[in-house]
Parts: sequence; C-alpha cells; structure tokens
Amino acid sequence: MSDRGGFTLWFTGLSGAGKTTISHIVGPELERRGLVVDYLDGDVVRTHLSKGLGFSKEDRDTNIERIGWVASRLTRAGAAVLVSAISPYSETRAHVRGMVEEHGAFVETYVQASVEECARRDVKGLYAKAFAGEIKGFTGVDDPYEAPEQAEVVLETEGQTPEESAAQVLAELEARGLVPAAVAS
Ligand code: ADP
Repeated sequence: MSDRGGFTLWFTGLSGAGKTTISHIVGPELERRGLVVDYLDGDVVRTHLSKGLGFSKEDRDTNIERIGWVASRLTRAGAAVLVSAISPYSETRAHVRGMVEEHGAFVETYVQASVEECARRDVKGLYAKAFAGEIKGFTGVDDPYEAPEQAEVVLETEGQTPEESAAQVLAELEARGLVPAAVAS
C-alpha cells in the first residue's frame, strides 16, 4: 500500500455527466499503482446508507454529508476514495471538503456537461421523464446545480472521451503527489 496517505476524489456534476464512468476507469488504474480504492456512488449509497431519503434540499444535504463522513473515515484509513455524487450545493461540498481535509487531500472534480448534452445521452432515461414532468425536482431541469467555481479539476466531457477525462484526472493526482507515476510494463 502507498505510504502517501489517503485522499478523496470527489466527482460532482449533473446526472449523466460521466462521474461513474470516469471513476471506474480511474479506480482500477489506482489499484494497479498499489492504492486501496473505495467507491462511494450516490445511487448505491441511496440504496443502503441513505435508504429512505428523497430529493428535497434537506435530504440531498443529509445524503452528501453521510457520504462525506464515510469518505473522511476511509481517507483517514489511507484509501483512495472515489465519490460519484451529483452534490449540487456548493456549501455542502465545502462542508464535506472540510471533513475530509482533516485527514487527507480533497480533490474536487467537476464533471462538466451541459443539460442538453446530458439529456441527449440520457443514460438512465431520467431526463425524458423530467422534461415530461413525470419526475419533479430533477437537478438541472427544475432543481438547482451550483457549478464549482474553484474545483481542483474540471473535465470538459463534451469534447473528450471518458479515457481522456480519466487520463486528465490521473495526471492531476500525479502532479499533486497523491499517486505514483505509472511504471512502464
Ligand atoms: P453520472 O455518473 O455522472 O450520472 P454516467 O457515468 O452514468 O454519468 O454516464 C455518462 C455517460 O456519458 C456514459 O454513457 C458515457 O459513455 C458518456 N460520456 C461521453 N463522454 C464522456 C466523458 N468524457 N467522460 C465520461 N462519460 C462520457
């Protein structure tokens, strides 16, 4: 295991922006480089740790704070924690940043894609329902998303492949000394 200490890579962005896709390219590469990796995916957390919570601002904040708390504990234990959660509110992201930074680095990664592009991708078929009014309070449609203003990493996914976005993340982690550079095989 790396002696560099744990960190949290926090992917924020609209549904369908690419958070999960990119984290599942980055994670295996971090494992190849000897790190212990843990994933906290917003949708998965909602079926376990946050079961029963809805999508009001209060419930969204509770969900993110729970994820932040777990991320801070895993960071403390030395893991590379990959969080994929819409996390639409700047203040809540700042709060979880503070929790994690007590134990290691917090790398906020803004997975950028316009609502139009996410709706075009419509990976989960949710935008069609949101535009039809079948889902209320959908982030980016009729619920706010506060874009990060000072994220450590900004991924412009509309002009990149997922592999290119993942490579940008890895380069940033290397530059920050959080992961060792790839060894040629
Ligand atoms: P999220 O986890 O943010 O809700 P997903 O990862 O589930 O989003 O879906 C993102 C979709 O966008 C996938 O179908 C993926 O192939 C596509 N995509 C296109 N370009 C990119 C990119 N540069 N990075 C990530 N995903 C991308």
